[in-house]
Amino acid sequence: MLLMDIASLRRRIEQLISTDSSVFSPAIQDSGFSCVRCGWCCRENFKIRITPDILRPSNAISIFPGDIRRIIKGTGLARDEIDQPDIYSCLSDGDNIYAIGWILRRNDAGDCVFYMNGACTIYEWRPMICRCYPFFMGEHGVDVMRCEGLGNKMTRESAVDTGKLLKRYEIKKLQSYIGIIRQIGDTLKPANLCQLQKDFSGNVLVCDGEATINIDIDLKSE
Ligand code: SF4
Ligand code: SF4
Repeated sequence: MLLMDIASLRRRIEQLISTDSSVFSPAIQDSGFSCVRCGWCCRENFKIRITPDILRPSNAISIFPGDIRRIIKGTGLARDEIDQPDIYSCLSDGDNIYAIGWILRRNDAGDCVFYMNGACTIYEWRPMICRCYPFFMGEHGVDVMRCEGLGNKMTRESAVDTGKLLKRYEIKKLQSYIGIIRQIGDTLKPANLCQLQKDFSGNVLVCDGEATINIDIDLKSE
Protein backbone atom coordinates (compact mmCIF):
# COMPACT_ATOMS: atom_id res chain seq x y z
CA MET A 1 0.00 0.00 0.00
CA LEU A 2 2.82 2.38 0.86
CA LEU A 3 4.14 2.38 -2.67
CA MET A 4 0.77 2.93 -4.31
CA ASP A 5 -0.59 6.25 -5.44
CA ILE A 6 -4.20 7.34 -5.53
CA ALA A 7 -4.39 7.32 -9.35
CA SER A 8 -3.28 3.69 -9.64
CA LEU A 9 -5.58 2.64 -6.80
CA ARG A 10 -8.48 4.33 -8.59
CA ARG A 11 -7.56 2.56 -11.83
CA ARG A 12 -7.51 -0.77 -10.04
CA ILE A 13 -10.92 -0.06 -8.49
CA GLU A 14 -12.38 0.84 -11.90
CA GLN A 15 -10.90 -2.32 -13.37
CA LEU A 16 -12.45 -4.43 -10.61
CA ILE A 17 -15.84 -2.73 -10.92
CA SER A 18 -15.92 -3.60 -14.61
CA THR A 19 -14.89 -7.22 -13.98
CA ASP A 20 -17.67 -9.76 -13.63
CA SER A 21 -16.94 -11.55 -10.35
CA SER A 22 -17.84 -14.89 -11.97
CA VAL A 23 -14.33 -14.90 -13.49
CA PHE A 24 -12.99 -15.59 -9.99
CA SER A 25 -15.24 -18.55 -9.26
CA PRO A 26 -13.33 -21.32 -11.18
CA ALA A 27 -10.16 -20.79 -9.11
CA ILE A 28 -12.23 -20.64 -5.95
CA GLN A 29 -14.19 -23.78 -6.78
CA ASP A 30 -11.02 -25.65 -7.82
CA SER A 31 -9.57 -25.09 -4.34
CA GLY A 32 -12.31 -27.31 -2.93
CA PHE A 33 -12.71 -25.05 0.08
CA SER A 34 -15.03 -26.01 2.89
CA CYS A 35 -14.26 -24.51 6.28
CA VAL A 36 -13.63 -27.24 8.84
CA ARG A 37 -13.60 -24.66 11.67
CA CYS A 38 -10.07 -25.63 12.73
CA GLY A 39 -9.31 -22.06 13.82
CA TRP A 40 -5.86 -22.07 12.23
CA CYS A 41 -6.44 -18.67 10.64
CA CYS A 42 -7.67 -17.22 13.96
CA ARG A 43 -4.55 -18.17 15.93
CA GLU A 44 -1.03 -16.81 15.82
CA ASN A 45 0.97 -19.38 13.88
CA PHE A 46 4.04 -17.44 12.81
CA LYS A 47 5.33 -13.94 12.39
CA ILE A 48 5.86 -12.13 9.09
CA ARG A 49 8.92 -9.92 8.79
CA ILE A 50 7.74 -6.67 7.20
CA THR A 51 10.99 -4.71 7.74
CA PRO A 52 14.12 -5.50 9.82
CA ASP A 53 12.29 -3.92 12.79
CA ILE A 54 8.72 -5.05 12.21
CA LEU A 55 7.48 -8.55 12.93
CA ARG A 56 3.77 -8.93 12.26
CA PRO A 57 1.84 -11.86 13.75
CA SER A 58 0.14 -14.01 11.15
CA ASN A 59 -3.27 -13.22 12.66
CA ALA A 60 -2.93 -9.44 13.06
CA ILE A 61 -6.19 -9.07 11.15
CA SER A 62 -6.93 -5.68 9.61
CA ILE A 63 -10.56 -4.67 9.77
CA PHE A 64 -12.64 -1.82 8.33
CA PRO A 65 -14.63 0.68 10.39
CA GLY A 66 -17.75 -0.92 8.82
CA ASP A 67 -16.71 -4.32 10.25
CA ILE A 68 -16.44 -2.76 13.70
CA ARG A 69 -19.87 -1.12 13.44
CA ARG A 70 -21.43 -4.43 12.36
CA ILE A 71 -19.85 -6.33 15.28
CA ILE A 72 -20.96 -3.68 17.78
CA LYS A 73 -24.51 -3.74 16.39
CA GLY A 74 -24.69 -7.53 16.35
CA THR A 75 -23.05 -8.29 19.67
CA GLY A 76 -23.54 -5.18 21.82
CA LEU A 77 -19.83 -5.32 22.69
CA ALA A 78 -17.94 -2.13 23.48
CA ARG A 79 -15.54 -0.84 20.88
CA ASP A 80 -12.44 -1.56 22.97
CA GLU A 81 -13.47 -5.20 23.36
CA ILE A 82 -13.30 -5.64 19.59
CA ASP A 83 -10.35 -3.82 18.14
CA GLN A 84 -7.06 -2.12 18.79
CA PRO A 85 -4.97 0.23 16.63
CA ASP A 86 -2.76 -1.66 14.20
CA ILE A 87 0.37 -1.46 16.34
CA TYR A 88 2.35 -3.34 13.67
CA SER A 89 1.60 -0.81 10.91
CA CYS A 90 2.60 2.56 12.29
CA LEU A 91 4.40 5.56 10.88
CA SER A 92 6.43 8.06 12.81
CA ASP A 93 7.42 11.49 11.49
CA GLY A 94 9.28 12.40 14.67
CA ASP A 95 6.36 14.46 16.02
CA ASN A 96 3.41 12.10 15.75
CA ILE A 97 2.81 8.38 15.51
CA TYR A 98 0.12 7.28 13.05
CA ALA A 99 -1.42 3.82 13.10
CA ILE A 100 -2.82 2.56 9.81
CA GLY A 101 -6.26 1.42 10.87
CA TRP A 102 -7.46 -1.28 13.26
CA ILE A 103 -6.86 -4.96 13.89
CA LEU A 104 -8.98 -7.48 15.76
CA ARG A 105 -8.07 -7.60 19.43
CA ARG A 106 -5.87 -10.55 20.37
CA ASN A 107 -5.59 -12.32 23.74
CA ASP A 108 -2.43 -13.06 25.76
CA ALA A 109 -1.84 -16.26 23.78
CA GLY A 110 -2.00 -14.27 20.54
CA ASP A 111 -5.36 -15.71 19.42
CA CYS A 112 -8.17 -13.55 18.11
CA VAL A 113 -10.27 -12.73 21.20
CA PHE A 114 -13.34 -14.10 19.46
CA TYR A 115 -11.83 -17.56 18.98
CA MET A 116 -13.07 -19.64 21.93
CA ASN A 117 -13.46 -23.37 22.46
CA GLY A 118 -12.63 -24.06 18.84
CA ALA A 119 -15.16 -21.65 17.33
CA CYS A 120 -15.68 -18.07 16.22
CA THR A 121 -18.03 -16.51 18.76
CA ILE A 122 -19.03 -13.71 16.38
CA TYR A 123 -19.35 -15.87 13.29
CA GLU A 124 -22.52 -14.13 12.03
CA TRP A 125 -20.88 -10.70 12.31
CA ARG A 126 -17.26 -11.58 11.57
CA PRO A 127 -15.19 -9.11 9.49
CA MET A 128 -15.15 -9.22 5.69
CA ILE A 129 -11.56 -10.46 5.64
CA CYS A 130 -12.54 -13.50 7.74
CA ARG A 131 -15.48 -14.17 5.39
CA CYS A 132 -13.09 -14.20 2.42
CA TYR A 133 -10.34 -16.33 3.95
CA PRO A 134 -8.50 -18.32 2.54
CA PHE A 135 -8.96 -16.26 -0.65
CA PHE A 136 -7.21 -13.01 -1.45
CA MET A 137 -7.00 -11.04 -4.66
CA GLY A 138 -3.50 -11.36 -6.08
CA GLU A 139 -1.95 -9.46 -8.96
CA HIS A 140 -2.98 -12.09 -11.47
CA GLY A 141 -6.17 -13.45 -9.96
CA VAL A 142 -7.27 -15.30 -6.87
CA ASP A 143 -4.59 -16.38 -4.36
CA VAL A 144 -5.38 -19.21 -1.98
CA MET A 145 -3.70 -19.05 1.43
CA ARG A 146 -2.90 -21.92 3.74
CA CYS A 147 -6.07 -23.48 5.05
CA GLU A 148 -7.05 -26.84 6.52
CA GLY A 149 -10.31 -26.86 4.58
CA LEU A 150 -8.97 -27.16 1.03
CA GLY A 151 -9.34 -30.16 -1.27
CA ASN A 152 -12.97 -30.86 -0.45
CA LYS A 153 -16.00 -30.37 -2.65
CA MET A 154 -17.22 -26.84 -3.20
CA THR A 155 -20.41 -26.05 -5.06
CA ARG A 156 -20.43 -23.61 -7.96
CA GLU A 157 -23.03 -21.50 -6.16
CA SER A 158 -20.80 -21.16 -3.12
CA ALA A 159 -17.77 -20.32 -5.34
CA VAL A 160 -19.79 -17.63 -7.16
CA ASP A 161 -20.91 -16.10 -3.85
CA THR A 162 -17.32 -16.12 -2.55
CA GLY A 163 -16.11 -14.47 -5.78
CA LYS A 164 -18.67 -11.66 -5.31
CA LEU A 165 -17.59 -11.19 -1.72
CA LEU A 166 -13.91 -11.18 -2.64
CA LYS A 167 -14.48 -8.50 -5.28
CA ARG A 168 -16.46 -6.39 -2.78
CA TYR A 169 -13.72 -6.82 -0.16
CA GLU A 170 -10.94 -5.85 -2.56
CA ILE A 171 -12.76 -2.71 -3.72
CA LYS A 172 -13.47 -1.73 -0.11
CA LYS A 173 -9.81 -2.29 0.79
CA LEU A 174 -8.54 -0.12 -2.08
CA GLN A 175 -11.05 2.63 -1.25
CA SER A 176 -9.87 2.48 2.32
CA TYR A 177 -6.23 2.83 1.16
CA ILE A 178 -7.17 5.99 -0.74
CA GLY A 179 -8.77 7.44 2.41
CA ILE A 180 -5.68 6.56 4.48
CA ILE A 181 -3.27 8.09 1.94
CA ARG A 182 -5.30 11.32 2.09
CA GLN A 183 -5.22 11.29 5.89
CA ILE A 184 -1.52 10.57 6.37
CA GLY A 185 -0.10 12.44 3.39
CA ASP A 186 3.67 12.81 3.11
CA THR A 187 4.33 10.79 6.26
CA LEU A 188 3.31 7.71 4.34
CA LYS A 189 6.72 6.45 3.23
CA PRO A 190 8.63 3.24 3.96
CA ALA A 191 11.37 5.06 5.95
CA ASN A 192 8.75 6.11 8.53
CA LEU A 193 7.35 2.63 9.12
CA CYS A 194 7.54 1.33 12.67
CA GLN A 195 5.77 -0.91 15.12
CA LEU A 196 4.91 0.01 18.68
CA GLN A 197 7.20 -1.72 21.15
CA LYS A 198 5.89 -3.85 24.04
CA ASP A 199 6.55 -1.09 26.57
CA PHE A 200 5.05 1.70 24.44
CA SER A 201 2.98 4.26 26.27
CA GLY A 202 1.78 7.38 24.51
CA ASN A 203 -0.46 9.02 22.00
CA VAL A 204 -1.26 7.61 18.56
CA LEU A 205 -3.37 8.98 15.69
CA VAL A 206 -5.30 6.13 14.12
CA CYS A 207 -6.13 6.77 10.45
CA ASP A 208 -8.66 4.28 9.12
CA GLY A 209 -9.75 5.92 5.88
CA GLU A 210 -12.88 7.39 7.49
CA ALA A 211 -11.62 9.30 10.52
CA THR A 212 -8.46 10.17 12.40
CA ILE A 213 -8.85 9.12 16.01
CA ASN A 214 -6.55 10.36 18.74
CA ILE A 215 -5.98 7.57 21.23
CA ASP A 216 -3.73 6.98 24.26
CA ILE A 217 -2.10 3.56 24.30
CA ASP A 218 -0.34 1.87 27.18
CA LEU A 219 0.90 -1.53 26.00
CA LYS A 220 2.54 -2.24 29.37
CA SER A 221 -0.86 -2.46 31.03
CA GLU A 222 -2.47 -4.67 28.37
S1 SF4 B 1 -7.86 -22.31 8.34
FE1 SF4 B 1 -9.47 -22.68 6.79
S2 SF4 B 1 -10.63 -24.41 7.63
FE2 SF4 B 1 -9.47 -23.56 9.33
S3 SF4 B 1 -10.89 -22.07 10.29
FE3 SF4 B 1 -9.60 -20.95 8.81
S4 SF4 B 1 -10.85 -20.92 6.94
FE4 SF4 B 1 -11.71 -22.55 8.23
S1 SF4 C 1 -13.40 -12.92 14.03
FE1 SF4 C 1 -13.85 -15.09 14.08
S2 SF4 C 1 -13.18 -15.87 12.09
FE2 SF4 C 1 -12.21 -13.86 12.37
S3 SF4 C 1 -10.19 -14.30 13.29
FE3 SF4 C 1 -11.63 -13.93 14.96
S4 SF4 C 1 -12.39 -15.95 15.57
FE4 SF4 C 1 -11.46 -16.14 13.53
